[in-house]
Amino acid sequence: MRLYCPDIFEQFRCTGSDCSDNCCKTGWDIEIDDKTLEFYRSLDSGLGRRLVSNIYEEDGCHYMGQDGGCPFMNEKGLCSVQLEYGEEHISEICREHPRFYEWFGNYKEAGVGLSCEEVCRLLAYHPKPVIFTEREIDEEEDSLGYNKELFPYIKKLRDIFISILQNRGYSVLHRSGILLYAAQDVQDAVDNGDVGRLKHICGLLSVEGFLMEIINEAGSSEDKASVYKKLAEFFIGLDYINTGLRDKFQEIHDSAEDIAAKEKLFDKLYGESCFELEHIAVYFIYRYLLKAARDSDVTVRVYAAITAAAVIRLLFVNELVRIGRIPSKEERWGLIKDFSKEIEYSPDNMDRLYDEILSDRIDFKALESILF
Ligand code: SF4
Repeated sequence: MRLYCPDIFEQFRCTGSDCSDNCCKTGWDIEIDDKTLEFYRSLDSGLGRRLVSNIYEEDGCHYMGQDGGCPFMNEKGLCSVQLEYGEEHISEICREHPRFYEWFGNYKEAGVGLSCEEVCRLLAYHPKPVIFTEREIDEEEDSLGYNKELFPYIKKLRDIFISILQNRGYSVLHRSGILLYAAQDVQDAVDNGDVGRLKHICGLLSVEGFLMEIINEAGSSEDKASVYKKLAEFFIGLDYINTGLRDKFQEIHDSAEDIAAKEKLFDKLYGESCFELEHIAVYFIYRYLLKAARDSDVTVRVYAAITAAAVIRLLFVNELVRIGRIPSKEERWGLIKDFSKEIEYSPDNMDRLYDEILSDRIDFKALESILF
């Protein structure tokens, strides 16, 4: 099998007890896989009995019950199950988080999620474009279904999208804008199974002059402040573990005009740090777009990626309005991590974002007005 992954996947190491926002404290539902459950049930010890009594079943899956954090994390922030029985006996999700994987037959992709502060730290100090590499691994072919005819074209388009997002000859907003313009054409070709059209779009998007043409012809018709207000209203209505991020969206809602007025100043001051927004857009496109080879949903994933990067930028501009300066690198990556934890890692919130896009409440025109 071939494994494809970004450079930070290989660099990532969990900082464990040194982590200031340990994922075991988040209060997420931790799925316990069948093998691990079987091991816990076989234990004849106090810890084993405590483990089994903390696990509950829902829709055929088993989860670790938690009230604001994993009950098996000790006072040093370490996993007492791992200390007692070894890493091989903690649930797969605990062993792997924040790594993620996707399989397509004998091809596998991997990455690391932005909900982890160490991943955010790696990207914060990664001013160059993220590099992706491929290597051979010893693993059996996967049997999960996907559209084998469309897969190579969606993959090729995803790779072109990433290279556009990493093309620093254009502003970071305009790079996302090119994807916005291409998404619906790609979706139409995918819906019609039109491989020839997909090839043609791949060719066009590889021509610099064509990208310039999109940027020159694009223009926003909607009032930015009212789009920011509408976006903020949507994000205020989501569910949060902590209310901090919701409060930020309330601030964006209440200061939408000031935010729109300060954007030029923000872009000037933010300057060379804008590689951060590039990394975020690349992350969302890399992680989610290839899933379209299973369900054919291209547009919604491209729009969600663009929305995520644009909204994170708004969170930064909001700080400029609120505190009169660009937030520090640590503050910015704290906001990025919170966005990922609260929104990307919440299936309910992501479903609501996808619904918002599918029902055209976050539509082409709204995103166009943010990007151009
Ligand atoms: S958030 Fe990341 S660095 Fe912190 S404990 Fe979890 S995996 Fe480790």
